[in-house]
This record gives sequence, C-alpha cells and structure tokens, in this order.
Amino acid sequence: MDISEIIIAGDTPGVEWRLPVFRFKGTKPEAPRTYIQAALHANELPGTALLHFLLERLRQAESEGGILGDITVVPQANPIGAAQAHFGELQGRFDLGTRTNFNRDFPLIALGERPSLVENIDRHSAVDRLKRHLLSMALGAELVLDLHCDDEGLQYAYVDETFWPEASDLAAALDMQAVFLSDGESSAFEEAVAHAWKHESAGERRTSLPGRLSVTVELRGTRDVYPEMARKDAEGLYRFLAGRGVVAAENHPLPAFGVVAPLDNIEIIRAPEAGAILFHRDVGESVKAGELLATIIARPGMADGALEVRAPQDGLIVTRVSTRFARRRADLMKIACGEPSRAVRKPGTLEA
Ligand SMILES: [Zn+2]
Repeated sequence: MDISEIIIAGDTPGVEWRLPVFRFKGTKPEAPRTYIQAALHANELPGTALLHFLLERLRQAESEGGILGDITVVPQANPIGAAQAHFGELQGRFDLGTRTNFNRDFPLIALGERPSLVENIDRHSAVDRLKRHLLSMALGAELVLDLHCDDEGLQYAYVDETFWPEASDLAAALDMQAVFLSDGESSAFEEAVAHAWKHESAGERRTSLPGRLSVTVELRGTRDVYPEMARKDAEGLYRFLAGRGVVAAENHPLPAFGVVAPLDNIEIIRAPEAGAILFHRDVGESVKAGELLATIIARPGMADGALEVRAPQDGLIVTRVSTRFARRRADLMKIACGEPSRAVRKPGTLEA
C-alpha cells in the first residue's frame, strides 16, 4: 500500500489542504481498477468509518497476495468542507464561499479529456482543484463508489439506469433496502464519472457500459456511525470487490436486496406549512395510501392548528429529515413507491 497526499493551496494566504490517498497495486492487469471515496459532503461520516475498516481488510489481503486490481481509496475526500464550522455546526454540504453543493459542478468532460482536469490547475479555486483531483483519480478506474449518507435513512443507493441490473451485486453485498434508478442528468460526482465514460471520445454517446460502475451509495443517516455497522459495511464492500475480481476471496452467494424504484416513483413528502414536525412513521416502514405520516403543528394551541400529512400512495419510507421544525414546502420524507409520483421533479439525483 502506498499513502500519498495531494496538496491543494488555499484561496487565502497561509492556508493549504492535504488530501491523503491510499493506493494498492493489483497483481492482475486485466482485473478492474477501483476508486472509492467518502465524505465528499464532509459531515457524512459513515463512509469514512467504513473505509477505515475496509483499508484494514485490504492491507490484510495485500499481505496474502490477494489484491488483484488496482484500488485507490480516499477516506475523507473533502478537507475544505470538514473545516467549515459555522456558528458551532459543521457545514459540510455547501461551500460557504460560493454556496455551491460540494457534490455538484463537477466538470462534464469526455474520458479522452481526462488529462485536462489537472493541467494548469493553478487557474482554479481550491474547491475546483479538489473536485478536479477527485474526478481525475476516479476516471482512472472502472469501478467508482462515492460514499454518502442521508439525514435519516435506510441503506440505499442512486444508480444510473445505465449500470442496472449489473449493479445489483453491490445492492446485495451492502444489504441495501432500496435502489433509486436515476437518469444520470446532473453534475454530481458519480454522474460526471458516468458522463465521461458515455462520451469516451468526441461525438460518441454510449448507452451501455458493461463492467463499469459509478454510484452514489447512501449509507443510512448522518448519525449512523457505529463500529459494528461500519465493519459490516466494510465486509459487504469487500464481498462486492471479490465478486468483481478486484480482490481474491471465496465467493459467497449474495443475499437478496430490497425494492428498486425509478426516481419518478419517489414521493417527496413536503410540509404544507411551517411548524413543529411530529412524525408518526419511521424509515424502514411500509405505508399504505392515505396513512398518517406526520402532524405539523403550524399554529400551536389553536383548535385547527395541526395539519395532517398523509401518504399519497403505498410505499417504503426510505428517508426522513432529522430536524423537527419545517419551513413551508420543506422535504419531510422520501417514499419509494410502485407507481410514478404525480409531482414534477428536476432531472438528476434527488439532492444526494
Ligand atoms: Zn451526500
């Protein structure tokens, strides 16, 4: 294993950022190359914990000659976001200087243009340099995993339809309870990677990418950071890598996984008015159309001050907000359903 650091000059005097990168060299040139990062949203730590244990497992595999394909791991991909403590809270999702989501605005380039990402990199701000380094590393691999988590949530993933159903091995290995099939139309990290592959050379647009995978994994909620969970997820990810021939291991049959829903079938439940949120139902529960999900106390003490929020159709509650105060139209839950939602949605992932 080789550990190096990418050094990114800050945008103000006296500041620089250090990004540790772990690299394992594979023994089989034909084995897939893998890139895994965590905590691009710097306040989402389940992936960082997972990778701590996965790296331990990979070091052990290396000592036994079990690393077949090259593996690059960045356990904490966003030192800039990790440093943004603001009024006592970590603000790891948006760059405070530009208000840009750290998981948006990745350059959408063709794979052949990969060297341009880090050419004359001094022309870019620190955040853009970080994004370019991360994307450049990812584009050297065939399997790319971006580890995130939700606010409160089940184990699930956004998977570009291009990679489905081939990616069902990852869903099974990580014991996912839901998979959201997306259309790959945004500038999120996973989609910038897939965009480059789809446009490998100029004028090309590939609709199938066998043997490749770029995915955003949502490792439950921000507070789901525990030793047993992280070890279990690390073992799951190791099983996935073994199945893809990246590491040597006896192949155990993978378990079944949960529901698969296109993004059109995700009901985003919103607060009708501002108020205190009283949830009646939790993530992981199945609900029927019309069932009470939450009460919003919009006007405390008034006879008509409480509003009911009900399920628009049958489904599985995949995520829920952790705050208990809602602004008008704020998201409360995402429910994976059997039928398309009647609400309109923007293209791309649902704020991964
Ligand atoms: Zn995230």
